Amino acid sequence: EPVCTEPLQVLGRDVRVPLVTGGEVTYAALDYAASAPALQRVWDDVAAYAPYYGSVHRGAGYLSQLSTDLFENARRTVEEFLDCREGDQVIFTRSTTDSLNLLAQALPADCQVFVFETEHHASLLPWRDARVTYLNAPRTPDEAVRTLETALAARDPYGPALVCVTGASNVTGELWPVRELAAAAHAHGARIVLDAAQLAPHHPVSVQELDVDWVAFSGHKLYAPFGSGVLAGRADWLQEAEPYLAGGGASKAVARRTDGGVDVEWHSTAARHEAGSPNVIGAYSIASACKALAEAGFDQLVAREQELIGRVRTGLAEVPQVRVLSLFGDDAPRVGVISFVVDGWNSSHFAAALSAEYGIGVRDGLFCAHPLVRTLLGSDPQEQGECGAPEAAPGEKSLNAIRVSFGAGTPDEHVERFVRAVG
Ligand code: PMP
Repeated sequence: EPVCTEPLQVLGRDVRVPLVTGGEVTYAALDYAASAPALQRVWDDVAAYAPYYGSVHRGAGYLSQLSTDLFENARRTVEEFLDCREGDQVIFTRSTTDSLNLLAQALPADCQVFVFETEHHASLLPWRDARVTYLNAPRTPDEAVRTLETALAARDPYGPALVCVTGASNVTGELWPVRELAAAAHAHGARIVLDAAQLAPHHPVSVQELDVDWVAFSGHKLYAPFGSGVLAGRADWLQEAEPYLAGGGASKAVARRTDGGVDVEWHSTAARHEAGSPNVIGAYSIASACKALAEAGFDQLVAREQELIGRVRTGLAEVPQVRVLSLFGDDAPRVGVISFVVDGWNSSHFAAALSAEYGIGVRDGLFCAHPLVRTLLGSDPQEQGECGAPEAAPGEKSLNAIRVSFGAGTPDEHVERFVRAVG
């Protein structure tokens, strides 16, 4: 039974960090979009289970059976959390990146893939072995749907096709019109996978309501620790594909052939793509976080986050040198992820100063979404370069940006400190 009484209390609220000016201060974790702090409840659940864990799926002992039950129950919890259809599969992976690479490897032959250039690299890059169409950055959600429809209308209508889209941008926090994009995909006989890495921690995600074919997300952004992720959705492509990893657990039966080779019969369930000893603690942590979020409900979380978004955006708007990055404009619905540049400042130096002088942890760079950030900064999206680029002189275009992000457990004081520091 969970020990923690506050359902969405996070770890690390009392961590003290040194300041360059002398003294120390409570750390203001404002980089939730990279990794959110784990929930106390997840920590307690894992600690309560730790003495009892054993090998899964293969052990006859009591603790092995207990662990197997917990692992398989974690699948059921995630299935419920995502409101999956009957027959959908939940596969435990290492992360969103891993989930999307798994799906990319399970594409049927000749699959065409459609992806906006604005995607995070995890959803932009895994499809490069397939026939990929990269779609230009839209400037409104409607334009996104029109752009996709036009591209799908021009596709080979007989082959399989997949659209990959993010639910909430890790750069602007803006929500994408997932339901409409899914409808467009299905109207043209394509399937759609939702990158919910940034959406799932902030909003309920219903596979059935959004009518998406797959969802991918990461535990470490959803208040669970690192090392586990989920790919959930339609079983057919996954059951027909070669296993993501070849090995024990994925194979049902293996035998030597008379010609000296080896025959393998692979599992057709989620186990097919989960070869090797699974990350049971990771799966259990994700399930614990899903339960905590489901029990607390998203209403309060969303309302609180919108308050904080308003406070940060108002604060940033009062500083004339600051420009907030946005694809869809000020009125777009968004989650608590805000990127900006400060005229005359190197973004990396700015972020370092927030840390050293105020104990605030944010992120700087191109946020693994190079084409999108370059488009937003007005630089050439085709240009190549690395994060941490040198800064432009005052009045020139910035080459990278600063990102502030928050969620459950973010106190007012962290956001107030941030607004004061930028001002
Ligand atoms: N998609 C989006 C939108 C993300 O923000 C991230 C993480 N920044 C990822 C995918 C990749 O997640 P992970 O690093 O956990 O694989």
